[in-house]
Amino acid sequence: MAFPRPLVDGFGRRITYVRLSVTDRCDFRCIYCMPLDQRFVPRPEVLTLEEIATIAEAFIARGVRRIRLTGGEPLVRRGILDLAQAIGRHVGRGLDELTLTTNGSQLARFAEGLYRAGIRRVNVSLDSRDPERFARITRRGRLAPVLEGIAAARAAGLRVKINMVALKGLNEDEILPMMHWCAAHGFDLTFIETMPLGWVEEDRTDRYLPLTEVRRLLEAHVTLVPTAERTGGPARYWRVAETGQRLGFITPLTHNFCETCNRVRVTATGTLYMCLGQEDRVELRDLLRQKGPAALDAALDRAMALKPRGHDFVIERRGAPPAVKRSMSVTGG
Ligand code: SAM
Ligand code: SF4
Repeated sequence: MAFPRPLVDGFGRRITYVRLSVTDRCDFRCIYCMPLDQRFVPRPEVLTLEEIATIAEAFIARGVRRIRLTGGEPLVRRGILDLAQAIGRHVGRGLDELTLTTNGSQLARFAEGLYRAGIRRVNVSLDSRDPERFARITRRGRLAPVLEGIAAARAAGLRVKINMVALKGLNEDEILPMMHWCAAHGFDLTFIETMPLGWVEEDRTDRYLPLTEVRRLLEAHVTLVPTAERTGGPARYWRVAETGQRLGFITPLTHNFCETCNRVRVTATGTLYMCLGQEDRVELRDLLRQKGPAALDAALDRAMALKPRGHDFVIERRGAPPAVKRSMSVTGG
């Protein structure tokens, strides 16, 4: 399909990928993501499901090819399957792909419905396969339902990618077993470095484990070969020479990925952020409520002019404030 007016930012980057946060709420409180007493947005400020679908359609009309539903925890939002269906209708008609990122706690209930809505791939966050450690990292989570959710997703025909945040002193010894476990089950695996987003109780420098270190840990056992694959985001891919397994490494702090960035994010309250690590934004909710869907189109053009060249994350300084005040759960990871 040809798009007469694609979304192109001031640096010539074409925007084809949108992450939609459908809620800032979550049933977990992962230590690196949000504090135990996280305050959530009052409900009237949150977009309705219809408003989220309308915003998704405005992006699709401008040539966006991939949409990811995220949060917070997207599967705690009531009516999530209705929303997935409303957006899923566009798959193959402008949209190449609708995906979802989840903590997996509710996945067993929703896996089949997500597949029926047109979703074919899910990312599930899993930082540990040890029940006690899992509880310590997520603070409110239990491992067993997540593992059941992952199995249900697979049974429903969804491709599963595991996201594992590398946490110094917490899960280094699970990195190699996680790689083997994912290979045995046919799951993709991506490692993520902690990013300085939002306030949490701990100093993130205490948990910061550079992925160069993760690679070093793995290379004591297997041969890793870099590949040229890119998805327009911060992930870089390596292959395990012995097995062909693909591993993703998301290293926003140690690697500059911004020059090929193809994505923007919309929060659950309708703020369109042009960069995960910057404040540049356009408010879509009130515009939509006051002027209707037609007003969104011009707002997307205004937003393109605001997309910054890149982020400036730094995590090295102990005790430094987070690079941006909002957590990943607000902007939509
Ligand atoms: N609740 C869902 C989940 O956990 O998959 C979706 C939202 S969560 C914000 C998306 C991803 O961001 C998860 O893989 C999580 O581990 C990661 N994440 C959250 N805060 C982060 C941070 N400060 N640094 C790095 N990754 C983070
Ligand atoms: Fe919730 Fe996901 Fe943040 Fe964990 S990482 S607290 S599951 S939003």
